[in-house]
Amino acid sequence: MVLYLRDYETFPVHLCLETEPNSFTIDYNGISGISEVKVDLKIQKSDEEYFCQGNAHAKVVLECVRCLDKYESDMNFKTDFIICSEEYHDRLKDEAEDNENYVFCYGNEIKADITDIIREAIIIAVPMMPLCSEDCAGLCANCGINRNHQDCDCQTEVIDERWRGLKDLKQKEN
Ligand SMILES: [Zn+2]
Ligand SMILES: [Zn+2]
Repeated sequence: MVLYLRDYETFPVHLCLETEPNSFTIDYNGISGISEVKVDLKIQKSDEEYFCQGNAHAKVVLECVRCLDKYESDMNFKTDFIICSEEYHDRLKDEAEDNENYVFCYGNEIKADITDIIREAIIIAVPMMPLCSEDCAGLCANCGINRNHQDCDCQTEVIDERWRGLKDLKQKEN
């Protein structure tokens, strides 16, 4: 996802960026597929900095922590960052608080590649405990069947670990 900021004469500008199918890749354990990455970007220019506010969307394939099935999820997330040249950033470094995300631009075309910052935003937006659905039935603790697809006849008695010692003792006595 590359921007050529020289193309715009007046700011703010509002852009809608979309990736070509299969052109956006992501190397992250929790994501096994990605498509339809779209970024709705508002850019305001101030001095030599371009302030960007992005509302983004991506379709990602995640693995459910409960049933281990892969499922597709529509993710919406925000990403804000500033585009400026590296030299400009270095000059300002001392005075500015540096807790912003920067993307460095270069060349006559004021070219900026925002792919990495979008990737980071996607990774941050991935849920810690992805669930295929709120009421996912998970795997049977006994036979391992995926209870969303099949039923099993297991009697899965839930044993409270704190009582296990006493239970074993009882069996020995008998
Ligand atoms: Zn699930
Ligand atoms: Zn079972």
